[in-house]
Amino acid sequence: MSRILVTGGAGYIGGTTVAVLLQQGYEVTVLDDCSTGHADSVPAAATFYQGSILDGEIVRKALEDCDAVIHFAAKSLVGESVEKPDLYRSNNVNGSQVLFDEMDGAGITRIVVSSSAATYGDSREQPILESHKAHPTNPYGETKLAVDNLLVDLAHEENFAAISLRYFNVAGALMLESGWLAERHDPETHLIPNVLRATSEKPLKIFGTDWDTKDGTCIRDYVHVVDLADAHVKALSALETGRHEIINLGSGGGYSVREVVDTASKVVGYEIPAIEVDRRAGDPAVLIASIEKAKTILGWSPSRDLEMMISDAYKSLKD
Ligand code: UDP
Repeated sequence: MSRILVTGGAGYIGGTTVAVLLQQGYEVTVLDDCSTGHADSVPAAATFYQGSILDGEIVRKALEDCDAVIHFAAKSLVGESVEKPDLYRSNNVNGSQVLFDEMDGAGITRIVVSSSAATYGDSREQPILESHKAHPTNPYGETKLAVDNLLVDLAHEENFAAISLRYFNVAGALMLESGWLAERHDPETHLIPNVLRATSEKPLKIFGTDWDTKDGTCIRDYVHVVDLADAHVKALSALETGRHEIINLGSGGGYSVREVVDTASKVVGYEIPAIEVDRRAGDPAVLIASIEKAKTILGWSPSRDLEMMISDAYKSLKD
């Protein structure tokens, strides 16, 4: 049986992937420093090491008996990355380098990596193809691109088999026997959790209503976290020695902020309290993924729609 090391496996997307791997019969080791993840969300069936990917010794231990790695561990807030670019470079790029060196040393060359649409930057071409020139507009996106570039070299020089999965906007939650596995960020910056937490005292802030879009609000491509986790497991079977592939994960379509608010109002059965405020710094107007490559190479396409993402996120908050 195959054992997979999941770095960042105590987080939202990493944790969901751990659950799906276990459901599909894989053995799992989790390495997470719990700076943003939660030790209590790691299932007992997984072997758990609490520590940083910057620590070669613990990475070496965690890699024992593993055949492949799914690498999520990273700092992932755009705003924070603008304030603390060095923290992002150290954690995301240097940490990945330590992981890759230890994998190389242990003869483990198969890896699926969590990348981001933030690598593309502001794009006029929609939907965005993987061949689109990467031009990140913030340090977070720069660090994700730097990691993808490290893998290009490792595939050519060390025969690594690597896939970088570039996520668009991830939402939803997974129901487990132990309860819901959901987004637990502090501070929460993402639209759908903020929509569901909005109250008349603390209404949702809609960032900008003067964008060049159909209703003036930004458009994003949302994908359910369980569909996303499935794509990672499929990617393990699509790895090819000496190759690095970049594959987008989204739905291939987009919703405006207002459409998300309207859908959420329908799901919860009351009107989500919202106010209009200025644009948020660094936001592009539209981000939509082309998912043709995911369909062809992974045999994957998402099966859960926006209503389900919102309703799962809502149930996870209420339970
Ligand atoms: N957004 C908003 N209010 C919020 C959070 C987000 O209007 O409280 C908007 C944000 O400006 C963007 C979209 O919702 O246009 C998605 O933002 P999110 O932070 O969820 O993801 P991002 O696209 O930035 O990765």
